[in-house]
Amino acid sequence: MIQVIGFIVILIVVSAKHEIYDGASVYEFEIKNELQVKSLRELEDKYYLDVWSHPGPTRPGYVLVQRTWRGDFESSLKKAGIKHKLAVKNVRGLLEQEDLLLTQAAKLSQNNMNYTVAGLPLGRIYNFDEIENYIERISRMYPKVATMVKGGHSFEHRPIHYLRISTTDFRDESKPIVYVQSLLHAREWLSQAATLYAIEKLVVNPEEHNLVSDVDWIIMPVANPDGFVYSTFTARSWRKNRAKGYKIGNVCVGVDLNRNYDVNWGTASSSSPCSETFHGRHAFSEPETIVTKKILHKYKGRVEMFLDIHSFGSLILFGYGNGALPPNAFMTNLVAQQMATAIDAVKLRENPAYTVGNSAMLLYPASGCAADYALANGSPLTFTFELPGYKHNGSMAGFLVDPAFVDQAGYETWEGIKIGARYALQSYRKKKGLALDALAPKPKRRTFKFKH
Ligand SMILES: [Zn+2]
Repeated sequence: MIQVIGFIVILIVVSAKHEIYDGASVYEFEIKNELQVKSLRELEDKYYLDVWSHPGPTRPGYVLVQRTWRGDFESSLKKAGIKHKLAVKNVRGLLEQEDLLLTQAAKLSQNNMNYTVAGLPLGRIYNFDEIENYIERISRMYPKVATMVKGGHSFEHRPIHYLRISTTDFRDESKPIVYVQSLLHAREWLSQAATLYAIEKLVVNPEEHNLVSDVDWIIMPVANPDGFVYSTFTARSWRKNRAKGYKIGNVCVGVDLNRNYDVNWGTASSSSPCSETFHGRHAFSEPETIVTKKILHKYKGRVEMFLDIHSFGSLILFGYGNGALPPNAFMTNLVAQQMATAIDAVKLRENPAYTVGNSAMLLYPASGCAADYALANGSPLTFTFELPGYKHNGSMAGFLVDPAFVDQAGYETWEGIKIGARYALQSYRKKKGLALDALAPKPKRRTFKFKH
């Protein structure tokens, strides 16, 4: 009986939670030319569109449209000659399905969880408090390698914590730093799988010891705590932070943190507080982005690799967001290709292979991005990952999560991160004039005698 009541309570909570998406639809669309790009941009502001995924030359885009605007939006697409179809008629149903799957998975892992071990089963999504508790526990259980650091706080004063993983307490400057962050965009929940799995493989259950002994790591699972909490409990599709005061009466809330960094700021983003890509009052107007800035400046010259994990699209992107390539673009592309190959070797068959390239060329121009800022400030190997959109029952999933794929997402992404970290280690040592011998044992020359 208690179980039945519990189930009903969950259903009621679930139903009320997604009310704001009732009747909202997701459209799949294709863009053929510059004119259509421009038309879509105009529609974005006009109908408060929530673009889930931008289209590429070989990929369709997906956009969420609220019930009120559906009719007008469809006729505007027809007028602009943009090919489209309805992908999800009522998003609320999809969100309720996700909720049920995630609730069941959380219950299952709770029953199986052994709290005496540090590892975290990845068959589910963890909320902000759970992740906080986890990294605190890791730093308590492994004080010799893991330190929990408060980098700052969010707009709503939640702490922004990261783990510093190092066998030498970050004091050995002959080691490069690899920085990995997730959840800068609130709704991209799957991205946590990459950072939590990395913690597992570096601290709890390390397999490649030189990745721990020769590299220092900064792992920040929740780069946008307020947005993540809001997405978890109030509006699933929330992307920005929760900054208020940009529009009178707080009609529109939040800044797209990945447009707020001081790199070409404001050149390819929105100045409208209601837009999903609103760039804020000025560069670094948000406390969350200042945290990354401080870390990059504190360790300037040592952050050899910077990874910003997002979801979705099966992409590894590199800068700059305006299409200009960095001086090391050739090597950047090569490393990205190798990371993609490593992931593809273990990916799910039904998922597409990773695509690699400059973010402006593959997706769309964007300014003020975290990865571009890292690149411009001394981190030569900088990438934005878009993890695959995992599909449940073949339905359109986007950034929604089927818990059955969380562990796989962590596992396969780690294959890519490892390749990148090994390369970062070599390139950093080369730059510092340090020996590479220990990293990859050289083949031994055989003694050879000429016979006369
Ligand atoms: Zn994102």
